[in-house]
Amino acid sequence: MSNRRTFAIISHPDAGKTTLTEKLLLQGGAIHQAGQVKARGEARRARSDWMKIEQQRGISVTSSVMTFEKEYGGETITFNLLDTPGHEDFSEDTYRTLTAVDSAIMVIDAAKGIEPQTLKLFEVCRLRSVPIITFVNKVDREGRSGFELLDEVADQLALDVSPQSWPIGMGGQFEGILDFASGTVARPEGGSKEFLGTRDENPDIPEQWAEEAELAQVGYPEFDLEAYRNGDLTPVFFGSALKSFGVTELIDAIAAHAPPPRPQPSEDGAIAPERDEVTGFIFKVQANMDPNHRDRIAFMRQVSGTFKRGMKLTPSGLGKPIAIHSPILFFAQDREIADTAEAGDIIGIPNHGTLRVGDTLSEKNDVRFTGLPNFAPEILRRVQLKDPTKTKQLRKALDDLSEEGVIQVFYPEIGAQHIVGVVGQLQLEVLISRLSAEYKVEAALEAAPFATARWIKGDAKAMSEFESFNRANLAKDRDGDLVFMAKSPWDVNYQQEKNPDLAFSATKER
Ligand code: GDP
Repeated sequence: MSNRRTFAIISHPDAGKTTLTEKLLLQGGAIHQAGQVKARGEARRARSDWMKIEQQRGISVTSSVMTFEKEYGGETITFNLLDTPGHEDFSEDTYRTLTAVDSAIMVIDAAKGIEPQTLKLFEVCRLRSVPIITFVNKVDREGRSGFELLDEVADQLALDVSPQSWPIGMGGQFEGILDFASGTVARPEGGSKEFLGTRDENPDIPEQWAEEAELAQVGYPEFDLEAYRNGDLTPVFFGSALKSFGVTELIDAIAAHAPPPRPQPSEDGAIAPERDEVTGFIFKVQANMDPNHRDRIAFMRQVSGTFKRGMKLTPSGLGKPIAIHSPILFFAQDREIADTAEAGDIIGIPNHGTLRVGDTLSEKNDVRFTGLPNFAPEILRRVQLKDPTKTKQLRKALDDLSEEGVIQVFYPEIGAQHIVGVVGQLQLEVLISRLSAEYKVEAALEAAPFATARWIKGDAKAMSEFESFNRANLAKDRDGDLVFMAKSPWDVNYQQEKNPDLAFSATKER
């Protein structure tokens, strides 16, 4: 079985994802001091000011990949942790990142339970049957009762829940975490009441908590590997990322239960990781942090084969092979040049705009992965140039940024003003900031008379008929595909009913 575990953490902002990430990396010995994930992020941001929004809002808009290893009885497990931007506005990027993982950890704040962003991200995982391990965080503080939280997860997510541990008190009364499998209690120590490695083998548990723990074990289903892997059951761990409780248990559960690289859907059926030839797909493109350099890193999720440096792969969008001389693996401390990579790994491929989100890469140019959607934008804006002589720069910038997946761009069939579409408001701010910082293009956004967009498909005759009647509401996307710009959702339904031969689609797979 493959020793790769490729996963993401999903959570609502502030639930503790960053803190947990640091502690997971510490586990693997990838970093030696907590705080480095954020510190590194800050140093990086200080170096480049193109993402002013990141600084202003103190949020992370860009995703990254962290790789670390841990030994299990002589076997080394390699963990690939894909960071998903936590802000609720920036969801498209997050969705795509979730297409590149085999499992996820869902972090819940013990005082808050399931929050809106948790739910949204969970729905994406469910769509793809991505199995979930739940971490109830911050039990070192006063929180809601464990039972209430378990029931909320079960009810709101329609999942079986299987508690694997139990907090001995919370907040001021917190005395540690009982691990059901071993029967040991991880104890807080010192003034900071952190977990420093002391596990009580014969714990004396106050009656109230002992009874609760007993109830939790008999009152909920036992862990069932198949149900978990099918996405029907979630094991639940209680802990505190800040005080290091439950972190080891979590990573050990990923190692033991989380699926190794899964087959991925393609136009010709699922591609198994055992396939000899290297295949993969691009789920993210990130501009260089240095605004003076136009090169980008495309993130490829490897699906099959053994990748070797210098190998030639054909991107589906290009049709001719490119040699991959300086691939990057994202180890937590430094970027490292990869010599080989396996199914489940993420490879960064430097390029100048050749690689786009949704592209398949393969040795024989014989595979097309599916399921990497563009989402119909929910916010559409006209781009207005402050300096009309910069039309060309604007077009270039919009094309670049749409390739990166920051925005979608639409060129109306009538009229010269470009329209940009996004799923979340924050994307618009990123757009304006990057236009100015990287392309020296000052632009403003104004309302467009459209509420959403739909990709249209149908036979040539039906298409051209529709086109001739609706030109004022039609645009082409970056690939030249026809898009219907709708004034309202009602408008979409109306046109769909009137044109039964055409399909109006809210997503487009490249
Ligand atoms: P993110 O937005 O999900 O990445 O959340 P962070 O990891 O940045 O955490 C948000 C806040 O919660 C920070 O102030 C953390 O110090 C705090 N926090 C995270 N984990 C814990 C925990 O286990 N216990 C307590 N008391 N605070 C925590």
